[in-house]
Amino acid sequence: MRLVLLGPPGAGKGTQAAQITKRYNIPHISTGDIFRDNIKRGTDLGKKAKEYMDSGLLVPDDIVVSIVKDRLTKDDCKDGFLLDGFPRTVNQAHALDEALGEMSLKLDNVINIDVAKEALISRAIGRRICKGCGATYHIEFNPPKQNGKCDVCGEELYQRDDDTEETVARRIEVYMEQTKPLIDYYSKKGIIINVDGKQSIEGVFKDIVKSLK
Ligand code: ADP
Ligand code: ADP
Ligand code: ZN
Repeated sequence: MRLVLLGPPGAGKGTQAAQITKRYNIPHISTGDIFRDNIKRGTDLGKKAKEYMDSGLLVPDDIVVSIVKDRLTKDDCKDGFLLDGFPRTVNQAHALDEALGEMSLKLDNVINIDVAKEALISRAIGRRICKGCGATYHIEFNPPKQNGKCDVCGEELYQRDDDTEETVARRIEVYMEQTKPLIDYYSKKGIIINVDGKQSIEGVFKDIVKSLK
């Protein structure tokens, strides 16, 4: 299954991705995670990406596209993948179509998680991430069993540098301008699945699984 997860920042893409990839046994490809990993390791790519990420802007298309293209040729993508946070511009969507076309492949579905603007800020600001395994929590909506510690691996949780009120607001604006047009782009191709992201985490997941049948 070749899938894309679409939705504004804080919609629950990463949270659903963890469950979807487990259920369908496909790799989770998150461009945000790739950048954060590079920042952590202090690579040149990480340094470049951090400037954009900290101001809530998109990393330039050419950088993102070449990373994703390279990732899609890896062996574990042979039987499918879940792209989370890519594509984010119409230009990136074209590049993805082209890259898949060259491999005689195409996307099966694009899952659009719909959440109203008002709910996004509190979701992103309360987000906490595990330093060890990357699991995502929310201080109020999905708290870990033990305060500040990951349920899965016991490591400490941290807050992303770009999950401040100001930066999240900027990211939502960027989403509205540059990413939202992709809903239309994929609707026209007839492969979009719209899911109500205001439900519980479990409710959203159930709807996704039902639509993928
Ligand atoms: P969220 O889903 O909360 O917006 P992500 O982890 O997907 O967060 O992305 C964090 C940041 O990484 C973005 O604000 C952007 O700067 C950068 N980024 C991630 N994916 C892309 C992409 N496909 N194109 C451009 N920038 C990206
Ligand atoms: P994205 O990858 O789209 O930016 P995340 O999956 O990281 O979003 O979710 C953002 C925050 O909202 C996290 O703290 C997560 O625990 C929480 N969250 C995710 N889905 C839901 C939901 N259905 N209801 C309430 N909170 C949610
Ligand atoms: Zn963990």
